[in-house]
Amino acid sequence: MKKFKFYTVTPLFTENTDFVVDNVRRLRREAGLDCVAFCLSMHPRGTPATVQAAATLAAYRKVKQALAGDRDLEIGVLVQSTLGHGWSGRRQLTDEPWQRIVQNDGAVSSRMCPSDDRFRRYILDIVGELAATKPSFLLIDDDFGLRAGECFCPAHLAELNASAGTQFKTPAEAQAALAACGQADPLLWTFEALRIENSRRFAREIRGAIDRQDPAVRCASAGANSIFPPRRGLWSMSATWPRRADISRISFAS
Ligand SMILES: [Zn+2]
Repeated sequence: MKKFKFYTVTPLFTENTDFVVDNVRRLRREAGLDCVAFCLSMHPRGTPATVQAAATLAAYRKVKQALAGDRDLEIGVLVQSTLGHGWSGRRQLTDEPWQRIVQNDGAVSSRMCPSDDRFRRYILDIVGELAATKPSFLLIDDDFGLRAGECFCPAHLAELNASAGTQFKTPAEAQAALAACGQADPLLWTFEALRIENSRRFAREIRGAIDRQDPAVRCASAGANSIFPPRRGLWSMSATWPRRADISRISFAS
């Protein structure tokens, strides 16, 4: 028989880990909630970004250690942000010189572009450290992956040119051509295929970082990126979301 499990997404207040521990125990005592997903924001913040990340990881380890004796308590992690949700608008949360996503209206967002090896290494190191703590699960939140109409950064523009045989020199040129495309146009399909593959490639790297620590650690992706409306009418072929096989080992629907 299928059975629902309720995962309590719990903020991890790095400055008050005692409160976090008490709160988990209180929720369990009062409501019977015994599956916890600590919410860790890992979108780069501050400079260098590794300082804030290390503080967040240290607080998580401290809380996990404090709860180690609580029997049958399931502790996982919601990696609540990687590329970034974009809630800060274009305001940059770090001065790290890593590539930002360039949207199809030419705006440089605060979201990180997965084309940048330095940013991917930053995330992969964090994921590896999290996996090493043998959490019950990792859940990568829905800011992961390129959304409809992304990305027009120099690396992705060059990739589009190489794949589509075009010579777009600026994001505006590529955006104009894509906006004029019909839904069957090979240029649009090439753009969409690259967008999806970029997300999937990063998802596979994340799975690899977990496997290097412990292949038994479950990892899933949260949400459905396909719900994001295309910007400026650019048609979206399908969800950018990585296939479950890219990132997961075990279905949560058991
Ligand atoms: Zn890019």
